[in-house]
Amino acid sequence: MKKISWFEATSIEEAQRETNATVSEVLDKESGNGAIIKSGGIDVLDLMKESLIAPDKIVNIRNIPDLDQIEYDTKKGLKVGANVTLAQIESSADIKSNYLALHQSVAKAATPQLRNMSTIGGNLAQRTRCWYFRSIDHSCFRKGGTTCFAKNGENEYHAIIDNGSCSSVYASSVATALLAFEATLDIATPDGKSKQIKMDEFFVPPWVDSSKENVLKPGEIITAVMVPPFKKGTKSYYIKQGARASYDWALADVAIVLEMSGTRCKNAKISLGAAAPIPIRAENAEAILTEEGVSQASAAKAAESAMEKANPLEKNGYKVAIFKTIIKRAIERTV
Ligand SMILES: Cc1cc2nc3c(=O)[nH]c(=O)nc-3n(C[C@H](O)[C@H](O)[C@H](O)COP(=O)(O)OP(=O)(O)OC[C@H]3O[C@@H](n4cnc5c(N)ncnc54)[C@H](O)[C@@H]3O)c2cc1C
Repeated sequence: MKKISWFEATSIEEAQRETNATVSEVLDKESGNGAIIKSGGIDVLDLMKESLIAPDKIVNIRNIPDLDQIEYDTKKGLKVGANVTLAQIESSADIKSNYLALHQSVAKAATPQLRNMSTIGGNLAQRTRCWYFRSIDHSCFRKGGTTCFAKNGENEYHAIIDNGSCSSVYASSVATALLAFEATLDIATPDGKSKQIKMDEFFVPPWVDSSKENVLKPGEIITAVMVPPFKKGTKSYYIKQGARASYDWALADVAIVLEMSGTRCKNAKISLGAAAPIPIRAENAEAILTEEGVSQASAAKAAESAMEKANPLEKNGYKVAIFKTIIKRAIERTV
């Protein structure tokens, strides 16, 4: 059995010094060489148990002080430290009252035990749960192979949009809500500086680079998730449909953020998870709500339009109907 060393980081700088790879890079190497970071450790441990990674060193960032605070300011907005657990987010009264869809997305993720361990940073950077990707016996497109085995295989949980090169879906359902809220990630870079990346710039689609799902480079550590201040009249709602009510990732999920002025919808954000390899915005559907206002009729029209690009595989056509239903329902529940 391979020996793995453990480093207990007490600061971000120390963690950066000890790390030389991301999980995607360790997975890419046959030897598995590399020092990777872990936070809650759920996905890191799963990937190790699946024999997909065998890092030399694990750098534990879970106990770095200052990464586990939730701060809310009416002018500055919300700042969630990268080590804040999903359970902490779930129990924040500020988040529930100002960012309901974010609260709902974490409350519906995984199970209470998992939410106690899962950190927001690790959640956003977890790897896809496609069963071909997770199988050591399948050298799929995401693992340097040339084939997406799901295309003509067991594809019932897979992407229905943009599924041409790889049909896996992004595992984080919290990302769906954060995309609709136009969140930004604060990232510490190895040169001792930091940068901000908007949520929609964080994801890497497989047709750009199939070996990873996000832009993180070795030594880059998410330090916080920032959400813009709550604007008066803003309403949000999130719905996740899974195969089971608990202990499962989303088959389909949707987050809606509407900025209302009376009956007029000034701004609409609709994001979909588990529809495509990365979370996506349904911009045509958003335009329907801003042009026509929010009603049962416009909700139905928006839901239809969000699925116009759907191109389901042999076994996942049922997801189109689920998306139409949850998009319509979520819009209706915001008003
Ligand atoms: C049965 C089951 C069901 C689940 N259902 C859902 C669900 O419905 N929705 C959902 O969203 N999630 C779900 N999850 C995922 C879970 O909630 C965790 O969020 C996730 O597995 C990883 O969180 P973690 O903190 O343990 O990350 P870790 O395993 O510690 O890390 C995951 C990845 O992130 C990297 N990383 C960790 N922290 C940082 C950081 N600060 N900066 C940069 N990179 C970092 C690590 O290097 C690693 O690559 C489920 C998990 C299980 C096992």
